[in-house]
Order: sequence, then C-alpha cells, then structure tokens
Amino acid sequence: MKQFVIIGLGRFGSSLGQELVQLGYEVLGIDKNEETVDDMSRVLTHVVAADATDEETLRALGVRNFDCGVVAIGDDIQASILATIQLKDIGVKKVVAKALSELHGRVLEKLGVDRVIYPERDMGIRVAHQLVSPNLLDYIELSKEYTIAELAVPSCLNGKTLQDINTRARFGCSIVAINKPKGGVIIAPTAVEELEEKDIMVVIGTNEQIEKFEASVAR
Ligand code: ATP
Repeated sequence: MKQFVIIGLGRFGSSLGQELVQLGYEVLGIDKNEETVDDMSRVLTHVVAADATDEETLRALGVRNFDCGVVAIGDDIQASILATIQLKDIGVKKVVAKALSELHGRVLEKLGVDRVIYPERDMGIRVAHQLVSPNLLDYIELSKEYTIAELAVPSCLNGKTLQDINTRARFGCSIVAINKPKGGVIIAPTAVEELEEKDIMVVIGTNEQIEKFEASVAR
C-alpha cells in the first residue's frame, strides 16, 4: 500500500491528507504547530509535531521509507525549500511541492521535485472555465490544444442519440464515454446510445471544438 508523508498541515495539506486517508492510504502528517497536529491526530494515520527542515528529525521518523512526500508549506518559502531538499536528499521516491508563486515553483522545479502544485492559481483557472461553461464539470488538459471535458447533459439533449447530436461532424469533438447515474459508465458508446438529462458525457477534442459544442447546448 502507498504511504504518504505530508509536511505542513494548513488548509491544503490537511484536506489532502484527509482525502488520502479516506481513499484508504496511510498518511503521516508533520507540522511544527502542536495545536494543528493535535487537531489532525484523529484524522490522519500518524501525526508528529516537528520542524520538517531538520534532517535528523525526518530520518528518525523513517521518512525515507515513504512512497511519496508532499511539501504543503506555502508562506514560508525558506521552510518549503529546505523541507523539499531534505525529502530529496533522504531519498523519498516521489516528491510533490506546493508553490504560491511562479518564482517559488521555479525554485522547486530546479530542486528536482516530481510535481509542483499551484492550488490557488489552478483553482482560479478551473473555476473561470466552469463559470463561462455552465455544463462543464471538470476537465483535463492533454496538451495546450487538446482537452478531455466532463459535461453535464443539458435538458435540450435529453432523449437524443449520439447520432442525432453528431458532435464529430458538427464540431469535430467526440463523446468517448457516458456516465449514467443509474446505469454506470459506458466506454466508447455507439451512435445509437441515448443521452438523458443528469448523465455526464466525456468529450475529447480541441479546446475550440469543445467550446463550440458546449456553447451550442448551453442553457
Ligand atoms: P494553506 O493555504 O494550506 O492553509 P499556507 O500556504 O498559508 O497554507 P503556511 O501557513 O505557510 O501555508 O504553512 C502551512 C503549514 O505548514 C502550517 O500549519 C505551518 O505550521 C506548517 N509549517 C510551516 N513551516 C514548517 C516547518 N518548518 N516544519 C513543519 N511545518 C511547518
């Protein structure tokens, strides 16, 4: 089973840890603030009040045996960088770190972290997309041009088959899966598959193609 160590149990670190525990993973949370550690003691698998920039402390906690380390310290850039260096030096297999600014992120990348997360920036972008596209539930950018989007099926498409909508010919994008709340997920649906309101359709295409399709059915 995968084991995670999360350094910094602020809003981001604690919600990440809580979700990982709910998904069934073991999580060690480290924070220098005793009160914070106390609050999280019933939520995470293990918690420790310690300064995560201290190599000896991390070694004593056996942090090197964890599969993934997440540095979730934001405000204190120095502590974020030092904790990241410690995790890399100790040999944690995968290191992920949170950045509050582009510059902070660039430093973390130079330290060789596997992934830099910008929670505020990324959430801002996500919410902007959802606000301008009311049916958009979620999306993954495959590249600058291509996206996979989850769109709620609006009432105007209720009862229509994929052949009726014909997204490929009309917009260039394809419906590659349909998630039916009652019927499960249909992968690679055929042309006769019927959509119902409350279904979720998974669409792949360029951003422009998906936007045009979305705009044509926007409520
Ligand atoms: P969030 O937005 O997630 O609430 P933040 O970006 O404001 O967090 P900080 O408040 O700087 O980030 O840090 C998050 C947590 O990291 C805090 O609970 C803080 O006590 C802890 N922390 C900061 N420095 C260290 C350190 N050297 N060792 C362990 N924990 C630390």
